Amino acid sequence: MWNKWQQTQPIATRILQNSLAKERLAHALLFHGQPLAIQLELARTVIQAKLCRTPGARPCGMCSTCQRIMSGNHPDVITIEADGASIKKDQIQQLQHDLSQTSFETDEQFYILVAAETMTIQAANSLLKFLEEPTGKQTAFLLVSNPTKVLPTILSRVQILQLLPPNQQQRLTEMVHQGLDEQRAFYANVLTADYERLYQLVGDEEFRKMIKDLELYLEQLEVQKQAPVIAQITIEKWCQKRQSALEIIALLVAVYEHAFHQRQQPIVTISEKIQTQLDRQACQQRLQQLVKLEKNLRANALVTLALTSYHIALMNGSEA
Ligand SMILES: [Zn+2]
Repeated sequence: MWNKWQQTQPIATRILQNSLAKERLAHALLFHGQPLAIQLELARTVIQAKLCRTPGARPCGMCSTCQRIMSGNHPDVITIEADGASIKKDQIQQLQHDLSQTSFETDEQFYILVAAETMTIQAANSLLKFLEEPTGKQTAFLLVSNPTKVLPTILSRVQILQLLPPNQQQRLTEMVHQGLDEQRAFYANVLTADYERLYQLVGDEEFRKMIKDLELYLEQLEVQKQAPVIAQITIEKWCQKRQSALEIIALLVAVYEHAFHQRQQPIVTISEKIQTQLDRQACQQRLQQLVKLEKNLRANALVTLALTSYHIALMNGSEA
């Protein structure tokens, strides 16, 4: 059961396995840095390791205890999720009440707060009293998307484990798995590593328009073979500010790299069309020119001028 975590989260896994081996698991742990669903799976794996009674490497993941923990059906493991937008005081009070009952199957109890940063101040204060005076053998897992929103008084009472952010490919696969638009997920993934912003971008109307224009531009330039300086007009309005121009460059780099490596990803982007139009040499030429363009922009060249010289360079390159 730990194999997968050893590969994807070597640091956190080592810390957790060490404290489990020494029977010194903190009474309150806070995870962040990965999507909540992944954090939940890790928290449940730790609990399995504590409760699984199968001899050998624990947890086995197969026994009834392990299975009920993973599916959220073990009576000594309570998972609390936000009621609406927040975790409310009465949810924490109910939790405290439930935990005051003796545990059902074991002498230990576990509770998991999903998106713990959404606790209202009142809820956080109730939890705080509880964290200060644990009433028995209880272990808390606080799963958090945004640790800056957690009260410092709570942060000071938990062991914080930062999980490694997923790599681009993992994130993309996850987003597509969750039913998000593949194309937009592909591009959003280029612009940010931050989960919240990633999901915001994919749903953002302006972003959708920008991607549409970017793909139109690529089609004009690479498929219809329009003059580069003419195709340029299509993306110009998204390049008014230096920062947005740099974003457009990052997106173009991603597309050309994608085409260059002929990646066999299940992504229906214009880059598939481009892929049939562009050979590796052409991709390389564009990538080299994009590096120059980015350098110029960072050196404070006027955006429109820099963009024009990029497209003139493409034109000269294709004639050569
Ligand atoms: Zn087991």
